[in-house]
Amino acid sequence: MKVFKFGGASVKDANAVKNVGTVLKRFPNENIIVVVSAMGKTTNALERLTDAVFFKKGNATAILDEIKKYHFDIIEELFPNRNHAVYTEINNTFVELDWAIEDEPTVNYNYEYDKMVSMGEIISTKIVNAYLKESDLISKWVDVRDFIQTDNTYREGKVNWELSQKLVNEYLLPLFNSPFEGAEGDVSKIIITQGFIGGTSENFTTTLGREGSDYTAAILAFTTNAESVTIWKDVPGVLNADPKWFDETKKLEQLSYQDAIELAYYGATVIHPKTIKPLQNKKIPLYVKSFIHPEEKGTVINEVQSPLPIPCFIFKVNQVLISISPKDFSFIVEENFSDIFNLFAEKQVKVNVMQNSAISFSVSVDNDERKLPDLIKTLQKQYRVLYNDNLELITIRYYDQPTIDRVTLDKKILLEVKSRYTVQLVVKNS
Ligand code: ASP
Ligand code: MG
Repeated sequence: MKVFKFGGASVKDANAVKNVGTVLKRFPNENIIVVVSAMGKTTNALERLTDAVFFKKGNATAILDEIKKYHFDIIEELFPNRNHAVYTEINNTFVELDWAIEDEPTVNYNYEYDKMVSMGEIISTKIVNAYLKESDLISKWVDVRDFIQTDNTYREGKVNWELSQKLVNEYLLPLFNSPFEGAEGDVSKIIITQGFIGGTSENFTTTLGREGSDYTAAILAFTTNAESVTIWKDVPGVLNADPKWFDETKKLEQLSYQDAIELAYYGATVIHPKTIKPLQNKKIPLYVKSFIHPEEKGTVINEVQSPLPIPCFIFKVNQVLISISPKDFSFIVEENFSDIFNLFAEKQVKVNVMQNSAISFSVSVDNDERKLPDLIKTLQKQYRVLYNDNLELITIRYYDQPTIDRVTLDKKILLEVKSRYTVQLVVKNS
């Protein structure tokens, strides 16, 4: 059995959805679980909708209408027959959002967020599933919330592995042995399900963190003992740098799990950071391939350890460098650290790089306006806090000095942390 993941860009319009069918037809006679994200930038739009409802800012009805229009435009192109059942089905699915914008929100923003934002994946998978059936593929839609169980940390659900495993064994895997409508002979059995979302024991919806669909693919591969995972992307594979920031990029043929974890951890956006570990634990290879050129080899991530042939760059903008020191100018000691780390954890602010000296502790974090002001305010109760925003964080794996010099040309280095294979630089454009 194989697990495939198609992200937002691979289902962003009608042609893209058709292409998913084309890619799947290259794999006859297989059992495939297909994890799909919300279409295009729907998740961002749903975040705006949630904010409009929760903070009563912006016009929720207008935002929802736009989301509906976007999806129905795609549906109309895919299903010229207006009597197709998908029209009613998607209308009925949108009713949940109609209600959400009418109801008074509860006090818990993160709970409301998950309830609303998760609908992007529910809707996209229903459309994709309906389309695949139209195009002679044999597919079944399942609700991933029935299998991937999390705690109730809304917006960052922690997977209950034991329970999820049990549910996958009892309900998901047997589906491949149950009758698939229309399945005869050597056709593939395809299960379509949602990335990014999970369910709690009380049947509430959670999300696994932004861009979490890769992680979903890994969870399902782990619990089903899949032979491989393939992430289908609009790039030819894993590149040594993001083409958004660098002109010259090279595709990596192969990457060890370890390097992939490091790159993802430092912010390479090609794979969600939590994706690799479950695959590594079961030695399941991960392929990153182009959905535009599915015949090409892409990149394989597996257990083969060989240092990367070229330096890899990860570039993060909009960084804030926070420097924290005791108000009485005493030394930074263990109690301070545990205090500070607890606060970061509580406010869900991720540390991208840190460095400490005798009297201060510096960290670079993403400038998240929902989380950061609150963290800084709380820190200021006990510490002297200085911060510097609009910075960039450059991470180079397999660095050498000429490479560092080249990328920091015209930049002022505010912080530099080096380990054997990796250097991290917080810089300001000068
Ligand atoms: N749709 C979600 C997001 O945009 C999950 C994903 O795409 O992986 O964050
Ligand atoms: Mg996405």
